[in-house]
Parts: sequence; structure tokens; C-alpha cells
Amino acid sequence: MKICVLPGDGIGPEIVGQAVRVLEALRSDGLKLEMETALLGGCAVDQAGEPYPEATRRLAREADAVLLGAVGGPQYDTLPREKRPERGLLGIRKDLGLFANLRPAMLYPELANASSLKPEIVAGLDILIVRELTGDIYFGEPRGIETRDGQRVGINTMIYSEAEIRRIACVAFGAARKRSRRLCSVDKMNVLECTQLWRDVVTDVARDYPDVELSHMLVDNAAMQLVRNPKQFDVMVTGNMFGDILSDEASMLTGSIGMLPSASLDDKGKGLYEPIHGSAPDIAGKGVANPLATILSAAMMLRYTFSQETAAARIEGAVKKVLGQGYRTADIYEAGTKKVGTKEMGDAVIAAL
Ligand code: NAD
Repeated sequence: MKICVLPGDGIGPEIVGQAVRVLEALRSDGLKLEMETALLGGCAVDQAGEPYPEATRRLAREADAVLLGAVGGPQYDTLPREKRPERGLLGIRKDLGLFANLRPAMLYPELANASSLKPEIVAGLDILIVRELTGDIYFGEPRGIETRDGQRVGINTMIYSEAEIRRIACVAFGAARKRSRRLCSVDKMNVLECTQLWRDVVTDVARDYPDVELSHMLVDNAAMQLVRNPKQFDVMVTGNMFGDILSDEASMLTGSIGMLPSASLDDKGKGLYEPIHGSAPDIAGKGVANPLATILSAAMMLRYTFSQETAAARIEGAVKKVLGQGYRTADIYEAGTKKVGTKEMGDAVIAAL
């Protein structure tokens, strides 16, 4: 199991450091992992002149999985667009053909007060949003701004091929099989032909997964249901743009950005695993960042790329345990709990393993 480790910028090295320690603890228990570190993002621009240097590309392609912290920071915001850290991120996603983005939104009962919704609406929330990542209106052609009849018009094209819909639907049905076997596909078929095709193809794919219960929902209703009664969902699957918005909405239900992992997968199970948050420059270097989203990203890596369900569940169980023991980093701290820094949180997880 070859892992390419990309700490990145800001709090990236601090949080990835703790996830690596957790993986090392599992390795000393017999899990056969190899880890190699490389540069991505702003640190790569500083040290190699490129946000996604050739050496990183080689390592990422050779590895079975990539574990990433986060990239970016205010010092890079004035660089030309092709040198920006975000280019590194888009570059590696494209290079590795990562078309399926899996984002769990999970709220541990101990953290129910962190949500802006009533605790009874969100306590125990556990949903997974599967978002298509390489198609849709974000990449469709033609696109641009041009002049028509003397005024500027902006143009983008929403487009999905049957094959693109089919492969993301298969990922979503597969993920639903590993959970409660309920899948809700989100579209806007009442207005957009592109998503009528989406609905038709997903319905067709469902025949291969008779054990998974499929439902469909229009995106406006889905946005509403996510705040009205989010626990009705198990797995949701949708296109790139709707998924961008709904996955952010779902993650904010939990109120704790430092807790949520994500996976981006290709069609062979290779994946890039990262927390959903950014590089948090405001707290970088202070040793206070929450490493749990990155540690949980490592658990997703063991589950989805390496099929090491027991090891993944062990990490998730350890995270649950430390929350139960009252350990909290500053972002999830409440009176009456034990405030700890990044490394102490890592220590607690390893002890709980
Ligand atoms: P952010 O997610 O970095 O931070 C938002 C807020 O959440 C900040 O107050 C931060 O301190 C806090 N926060 C985030 N992660 C935390 C953690 N693990 N523990 C405790 N607190 C945490 O978003 P931002 O401030 O909008 O962006 C900062 C930089 O990160 C920008 O350069 C942006 O481009 C980049 N970014 C990168 C990624 C990525 O690498 N995938 C994603 C989003 C943003």
C-alpha cells in the first residue's frame, strides 16, 4: 500500500503529521504501508517553482493513494494564476482522473451543539454526498464572455455524457452498499434536459443494484430537505455544480469544519484523501488546528482504496472515543471539556487505537 503524502501549506503539515503518526501506529500493528512525502501548492512554488512539480506528479502517479493536507495562503494570492496553489490541486485531480468526490457529513452526538440547527435535527447525522467532479457546467464547452447585439453575454454549457453519469452512479450505488443501501439522486429534470438524461441513466444503473433503494429529488427540494430533516438521507449522488453547493451545505450542518474528511476517486479505486477545510492561515504554526478531519481522511483511504475496513473502523472508533473522553481542539471546544492542541489530539487518538 503505497501512499503519497502531501502536507501542503498553512496548517497542512501540522494536521498531516498527526494522520501520519496514526498510520504509523497501524503499521507497527502489521498494516503494510509505505509513505513518501512530496510538495504541492504554495510550498511547491516556493521550493520548486511550480504548484504541481514533476517529482510530485511522478510520486502521485506511482502511489495507490494520496493523503493531502491543504494548499493556499494569502502570500500566494498575488501570483499569476498558473502559479497559484489552487492550480496544484486542480492539476493533481485532473492528472489522476479523480472524477468521484465522496464527502461524508457526520455529526458525533458529543458535538451536536456545534451545529446552527437544533440538536435533535442533527445529532447522529451521518450522510454521504457523492459528487461528480470532472464534468458538468464547470468544464462544458462553449464557454466564455462575448458580445452579442452590442452587449456582453456570459455563456457556460451544462453537459454530461451517458458514460460519465453511469460511472459516478456506479460509485454511488457501491458506496450505498457499504452503508444503509439507500441512494437519493439529485437533479433538476423538470427544467434541464441534461439532468433528465442524468435521471434516466441513474434509473437504468439501478437495475444492477436491486439491493439498493433508489429515490430521486429535485435540487431545490434537496437543499430544503437538508436543513429541514437531513437524517432522512443516507447517500446522495449528484452532478458537479449541484454537488458543490449541496456538499458545502451538508458539511455546515455539522458546524465543525475541522472534523470532516473527503475522498476523490478514479475508476480503479485510487484516491486522493483530504480534509474539506483549507489551510487555515489564521492559525497556522500555532499547534491548535484540529487534526481529526485529516485522521478521518486516512480512515477513508484505508476503506475505499485499500479495502481495510477493520483498520478504517479502528481509526473512526478511536476518534469517537477521544470525543467521548472529552478531548477538544479549540474549534470544537465547549465549557466542561478538555482543550488540547494538535499534537495532544493526535496522542489521544493513538492512545485510543
Ligand atoms: P479555511 O477552511 O482554511 O478556514 C476557515 C476557518 O476555519 C478559519 O477560521 C480556520 O481557522 C478554521 N479552520 C479550518 N480548518 C481548521 C482546523 N482543522 N482546525 C481548526 N480550525 C480550522 O478556509 P479559508 O480561510 O477560506 O481559506 C484559507 C486558504 O485555504 C485559502 O488560501 C484557500 O484558497 C485555501 N483552501 C484550500 C482548500 C484545499 O486545499 N482543499 C480548500 C479550501 C480553501
